Amino acid sequence: MQGGYDYLIVGAGLFGAAFARCAADAGEKCLVLERRPHIGGNAYTETKNGIRIHRYGAHIFHTNNSAVWSFVRQFAEFNHYVHSPIANYLGEIYNLPFNMSTFNKMWGVTTPEQAREIIKQQQRDCYIPEPENLEQQALNMAGRDIYEKLIKGYTEKQWGRPCSELPPSIIKRLPLRFTYDNNYFNAKYQGIPVDGYTAMVEKMLRGIELHLETDYLQDRAFYNRAAGRVIYTGPIDAYFNYSLGALAYRHIRFDIQVLQQPNFQGNAVVNYTDPLTPYTRIIEHKHFEAGKQKETVVSYEYSDEWRPGMEPYYPVEDKQNRELYLRYRELDRGEKQVIFGGRLGTYRYYDMDQVIEQALNTFQNIR
Ligand code: FAD
Ligand code: UDP
Repeated sequence: MQGGYDYLIVGAGLFGAAFARCAADAGEKCLVLERRPHIGGNAYTETKNGIRIHRYGAHIFHTNNSAVWSFVRQFAEFNHYVHSPIANYLGEIYNLPFNMSTFNKMWGVTTPEQAREIIKQQQRDCYIPEPENLEQQALNMAGRDIYEKLIKGYTEKQWGRPCSELPPSIIKRLPLRFTYDNNYFNAKYQGIPVDGYTAMVEKMLRGIELHLETDYLQDRAFYNRAAGRVIYTGPIDAYFNYSLGALAYRHIRFDIQVLQQPNFQGNAVVNYTDPLTPYTRIIEHKHFEAGKQKETVVSYEYSDEWRPGMEPYYPVEDKQNRELYLRYRELDRGEKQVIFGGRLGTYRYYDMDQVIEQALNTFQNIR
């Protein structure tokens, strides 16, 4: 490896790849290091039995940001997939996000006025003007029946904590509508790259030096000497050797199975919202692309608390961890040549478009 790089970029996920592209286009010399044997981070897709699978869980690109949408479309054509997951509560099937189809199934109501009236009645006992936790926020938003059947069990499995100890922001991600619209996202643009996310990231990284299976933290002094600045997208607490203690993350175990049948569940994503089913959701990958193969591939998602050696997927942004993260940010002020970015580097429950927006802005701001 030669020195003289302008940027050493740690992580070939979407933040790292988007940043590297901007820097390379501006004539900067970049080196990207990636610990895993592949690029794409958690958006990585691969082919199994002729079916493209989202190796680390369902990834649907959605954004309201036209600049981000233009940026990604330089590297991929997107299909017209519209995300409409289903909730299975002990065999009862509900449409998501919470909308008139959900309310009709839950209460038999057929008009928005009837649905609003039921939610209002249910809120009467529990309305809290300024909700401080996810439970209060969910009850305020949708009333007790929706909370009990569609939110509580799923959320507590997903996060491993009572809803009363989680921040309201998590549930604010979900729309609630009084129309018969099962589109999960309120986004202007939505889709999945026709050739998968890996091909999209490959194009972003074209012409940029990349070392896979290379952990920056194993020899950071060596790599730091090679470059003027470091862009770090791994976990911020790992960067500082957990010196203030470990931040909490959720890990997911993906149990991937090939099934000898063409259609297992009739939808790309089915959430199991009861507390008893051990997994949170099942993904049937072919339905992201209307696949017609004879077989199908499904992944069951089991959520777990992160422990050393596991891949961290979701930052747990409760009050305690937020405070710890801010203390790490104080340490980062001493690290003048390092910029932290992405979901793990900035400890934020960001979607792909937000991470790309952050990368584009970061590059603009440091020029
Ligand atoms: P990552 O993808 O985590 O990439 C960071 C990379 O850095 C990793 O590849 C890692 O191996 C590497 N790395 C870490 N430490 C080191 C080191 N020391 N040395 C070298 N390399 C290192 N977003 C959406 O918009 N839509 C969705 O539908 C969606 N679904 C999701 C479902 C799941 C189950 C998960 C977990 C996330 C989902 N997301 C979704 C979020 C999306 O995955 C992230 O927003 C995005 O991938 C984050 O990109 P990143 O570059 O910040 O991080
Ligand atoms: N959620 C829920 N029931 C569902 C789906 C989601 O209560 O059927 C809640 C849950 O707390 C989850 C959050 O909404 O963590 C955000 O859901 P999203 O689908 O955005 O999660 P992701 O795809 O990022 O895992």
